Amino acid sequence: MKALLSIDVEDWFQVENLKQAIDRKSWNSYESRVEKNINLILQLLDDRNTKATFFVLGWIAEKHPALIKKIFNEGHEIACHGYNHELVYSLSPEKFHEDVSSAKKLLEDITGDRIIGYRAPNFSITDSAIDILSSLNFRYDSSLFPIILHNRYGRLNNFPVNNKTIFEIKKNFFQIELSYYEFLNLKLPWAGGFYFRFIPYYIFNKGINSILKNKEYYIFYIHPWEFDPGQPRIKNIKLNYKLRHYTNLHKTENKFKRLIQDFRFSPIREIILPVKENLKI
Ligand SMILES: [Zn+2]
Repeated sequence: MKALLSIDVEDWFQVENLKQAIDRKSWNSYESRVEKNINLILQLLDDRNTKATFFVLGWIAEKHPALIKKIFNEGHEIACHGYNHELVYSLSPEKFHEDVSSAKKLLEDITGDRIIGYRAPNFSITDSAIDILSSLNFRYDSSLFPIILHNRYGRLNNFPVNNKTIFEIKKNFFQIELSYYEFLNLKLPWAGGFYFRFIPYYIFNKGINSILKNKEYYIFYIHPWEFDPGQPRIKNIKLNYKLRHYTNLHKTENKFKRLIQDFRFSPIREIILPVKENLKI
């Protein structure tokens, strides 16, 4: 039984749900709250002696190199969340290559380590992105959310799909699926984010236990802004986006504390690289 923990490192104003109201060009004009929120997460993880994978946005790494170095120095895995947080299927292959390779280089320069993991913004992965990631020497992608209910999630059509959570889709390249809970033939997202904030903790906990009974791995994700009920409120966005972004922000910290107390989590890298290879890097 293995549970894997991931944090997608981006600031509150970079989220897809707020894009209607916040233009990419105006990011610099908003108050950055990522450092304070990451420091809280690092403290909670340290209290339980737990290590995680942090998928860092290149834009954030460029503004906060010391913060990324601090995460790395505390023993967590640094992985890549692209540079500009654009939906992968909205970019040409050339643009995607540019976005992801610039972010990877930045993170490798900051940490002095090799970056092997990638997660697409909003899980917007595509077939051609997988080929590009593997050509850039990534070793895994963790962006596949096999849920049909959500219109923004990506799809993979050219790779073999099976019932495993972690599988080798190309030579030396792994896919790490986000976890879901199967109920009455429906696949419910059970991996974190809004669903973690919305569903009462004891039910969420039962779901994880049931997933771990049926599958080899459980994968959880969360964002720093989800720990921040004091973040500025954006009003002129669609109601369902508002719900997704703002529901139960004040509950995240306590729920997360219980989660990392009840389950023993590891970073993704630990199961992708054999111990020997991990030490060599
Ligand atoms: Zn993101």
